[in-house]
Amino acid sequence: MKYQKLEMPKLGEKIETREGKLDVPDNPIIPFIEGDGIGPDIWRVTKKVIDAAVEKNYKGKKKIEWLEIHAGLSALKKYGDDDILPDDTVNAIKEYKVAIKGPLTTPVGGFDYVCLVCAKEQDGIDGKRPEKCIKCGSEYVTPRFRSLNVGLRQILDLYACVRPVRWYKGVPCPVKHPEKLNVIVFRENTEDVYAGIEFQEGSEDAKKLIRFLQEELNKTVRPDSGVGIKPISVTGTKRLVRKALNYAVQHNKPNVTLVHKGNIMKFTEGAFRDWGYELAKEEFKDKIVTEQELWDEFDGKMPEGKILVKDRIADQMFQQVLLRPDEYSVLATPNLNGDYLSDACAAQVGGLGLAPGANIGDEMALFEATHGTAPKYTGMNKVNPSSLILSGVMMLRYLGWNEAGDMIENALEKTISQKTVTYDLERQMTGAVKLRTSEFGEKIIGNM
Ligand code: NAP
Repeated sequence: MKYQKLEMPKLGEKIETREGKLDVPDNPIIPFIEGDGIGPDIWRVTKKVIDAAVEKNYKGKKKIEWLEIHAGLSALKKYGDDDILPDDTVNAIKEYKVAIKGPLTTPVGGFDYVCLVCAKEQDGIDGKRPEKCIKCGSEYVTPRFRSLNVGLRQILDLYACVRPVRWYKGVPCPVKHPEKLNVIVFRENTEDVYAGIEFQEGSEDAKKLIRFLQEELNKTVRPDSGVGIKPISVTGTKRLVRKALNYAVQHNKPNVTLVHKGNIMKFTEGAFRDWGYELAKEEFKDKIVTEQELWDEFDGKMPEGKILVKDRIADQMFQQVLLRPDEYSVLATPNLNGDYLSDACAAQVGGLGLAPGANIGDEMALFEATHGTAPKYTGMNKVNPSSLILSGVMMLRYLGWNEAGDMIENALEKTISQKTVTYDLERQMTGAVKLRTSEFGEKIIGNM
């Protein structure tokens, strides 16, 4: 592949996929996006921590060759022309298959422009692009754009958003037994109300759709409604549930729960549940038992070595993770349920600052911090890099480099339990020592 502006590492080989399995060389080239705002601060530390764990475990036999690719502010600086997601970036992820990224600025409101340095959204001046940001004075003000995160997921068909949630010893949190929650959420990433099929109240398209529903399908919608469409397909559901079940099999997990609101939305969420069970029975028959079978055939006693497949209604699931957290292991959800549920689980064990994530498809995987760019802390060497570091741990395990991943996770937990932490945790702990981002990283390396 020819790249316009990438500086390729001198050494390194490509990760390949063969028959759906990763073939990882000892020196894989892995692209990274630093990200906007605090991205460079947390990436610098994450890279050091990953490299140290790889070196300590494999003594030079394995090594990651990093390839910097660009999105957001760094792309604008390198490529110009408002090109915040260059072809180079998309092509490099496609070619090298596994990548990791920091957070990226995402416009939220209805303004015409956004500053990629401080994330301030603003309107044009006399109908023209502002020359400088009205808040921070930077020249990197670009026309409003759709989320780069969502864009990358769609372009690369990264259909599963995977979020492991567990408690790390010493992390302050709101529940009495945070250690009981240890789940991994597989959230469908491409469908549901996130498919982007929405019509504004009063628009011609909304009127047309409301008329169609009334005249053709005999369904009444108030004329002053905005309307959204919620597609959930057999294809989208089955590939997501397959990924969750494969994960459960490979990692000896005891159960997989399909989380849905099928009692109300029968043909979307209810179908998600039905297709999920169907897939489990079609493709994992000898490895699973459904909850129904457990009672009908096994008198409620779980047969040895099998995975229990069950389902829960979404609102009930929020209670379950609080009241009976240790009964859940892998959760498979449609897009919206998964969005709420993964954040609620993360909050339960001490907040989003530590939660890692990945977007994974059949061919490619993109690991990422789950928090945003926290622009007010840009360049201050202050914030907590744990979310990106733990995403790096996920990535190492995805490569099959489990020893290195485990070493980082243990060292990070030890560092937190020693009460040597960044400001966000320090302010919630008594007797803790406040460290800078880089110092926290050094401490983790020292604890390996
Ligand atoms: P945010 O960047 O997540 O920051 C909100 C607050 O969370 C921060 O002010 C800080 O709280 C805390 N925080 C976030 N990351 C932290 C870290 N690593 N260490 C310690 N504390 C941390 O959310 P936002 O301010 O709403 O969003 C800023 C920009 O990021 C927006 O453009 C948004 O759209 C984008 N965003 C991107 C992603 C992504 O790329 N995946 C995700 C979410 C948001 P305190 O001030 O209380 O210390």
